[in-house]
Amino acid sequence: MAYKIALYPGDGVGPEVVAEARKILDALGLPLEYRALDWNTTLYAKTGACAPADYLEQMRPFDAILLGALGDAKNAPDHVSIEPLLGMRKGFDQYVNIRPALLYEGVDCPIRNVKPYDIDMVVIRENTEGEYTTMGGRHYAGTPHEAAMQVSYFTRMGTERILRYAFETARTRKRKHVTSITKSNALKYAMVFWDGLTEEVAKDYPDVSLSHMLVDAAAMNFVRTPQSFDVVVASNLFGDILTDIAAIVIGGMGFAGSANINPTREFPSMFEPVHGSAPDIAGSGKANPIAAVLSAAMMMEFLGEPGAAGKIRKAVQLHLAEGKVRTPDRGGKNTTSEVGDDIRGKLEKA
Ligand code: ATP
Repeated sequence: MAYKIALYPGDGVGPEVVAEARKILDALGLPLEYRALDWNTTLYAKTGACAPADYLEQMRPFDAILLGALGDAKNAPDHVSIEPLLGMRKGFDQYVNIRPALLYEGVDCPIRNVKPYDIDMVVIRENTEGEYTTMGGRHYAGTPHEAAMQVSYFTRMGTERILRYAFETARTRKRKHVTSITKSNALKYAMVFWDGLTEEVAKDYPDVSLSHMLVDAAAMNFVRTPQSFDVVVASNLFGDILTDIAAIVIGGMGFAGSANINPTREFPSMFEPVHGSAPDIAGSGKANPIAAVLSAAMMMEFLGEPGAAGKIRKAVQLHLAEGKVRTPDRGGKNTTSEVGDDIRGKLEKA
């Protein structure tokens, strides 16, 4: 039976990088069936909506969704264009956002004295609640009493399950260490609650070591000593911010793939590069497709094809180590599509 994949290229560089990910997937010789979704801010300009009202129902039958990026401020406000992304994460209960950061050989690292593979961390970001719930409101617009309230909402169930996922992930890795990120000195309800649950969950994982770190210290240490992290677990907002730093220290936004997982498999999971639609380089063939290609590898792994996932990663590794074909973010002059072709060529040797 074929794997049913929804391709959701979206906006900006999204379609360019998703095309390359598909090129690699097609070369694997696996039974893959696609449906392309043309939901983006161009649709918003025409219809007033970035996706059909029943977008979740339309995607429900798929095994997985491969997303490019959403958003183009020229056509739609960012908080509108991002809605289907947040809608999928919540509606499909994709409560784990996995964001690995691995420094490959051949990639320039902006941090001194770091060798290839020294940086090898995975950030497990809570993806359905925390600071990104849509609770809150705006009141008394235009008056001196004007106010806005944005609620952070942490549940025992939501917090515990993400912590368990982080500890389980650590168990599969060599260093078996979890760093839990909070800001419990200033946010004394939600974050102290998170810390307490972390200690509770940790008792079930005596083989995994644990440290706590405040998010400001983590931001500093992601730059100062990124090699010291193994598994990092963080709330929705903190994980979002820290993974942009993690992407930069492994070479840039073009290298960071991610997975939005519903571990129960009741709903489809979604795979996307960490980067956004990069309007500054969209349409110019300058986007690095590696983040999308690595996201496709995570998708194949989740679909139960670890061999295919390993092959894609190996091909990326060979491509980067050789370093002949490079997009401008790596100081090269090659196009998005030439990078895709080169990685596809390396699949045979992988
Ligand atoms: P979002 O908020 O949607 O995540 P963002 O505002 O963080 O997006 P990005 O679209 O991720 O912004 O772009 C940030 C910077 O990284 C831009 O300068 C962009 O050109 C660069 N960038 C993003 N993706 C890539 C890529 N695939 N290849 C090369 N450069 C990229």
